[in-house]
Amino acid sequence: MKDHKNDLSTMSVRQLLARRRALAERLGSVEEVLAGSLAEQTRRCGKAGCRCAGGEPHGPYAYFTARPQGRSRARYVPTGMAEVVRRYLRRGEQVETVLAEISAINAELLARRVLD
Ligand SMILES: [Zn+2]
Repeated sequence: MKDHKNDLSTMSVRQLLARRRALAERLGSVEEVLAGSLAEQTRRCGKAGCRCAGGEPHGPYAYFTARPQGRSRARYVPTGMAEVVRRYLRRGEQVETVLAEISAINAELLARRVLD
């Protein structure tokens, strides 16, 4: 897709409204969203004689940090759930992208004094 701001300014109000509707319909279910990031880290358990003491750390383990961060810290994500978290994060990004496009259309409608 090209630069949106330029696209929108050349579209008619009718086209803008049609695009807004199409975007909203494309949005679909917004239940499975997460905002944040997933990071992987290796760990050392500290036990003498463990392989991690010899430079072979445990993991990697996944940690989720919510956004906005606030006071929340990175939380351990069980290995079996990491893929679900990734899916929710991807979906969250998609939803945010579409909402930003809808918002840009509404800003354009406002600039033309036809937002209602
Ligand atoms: Zn260890």
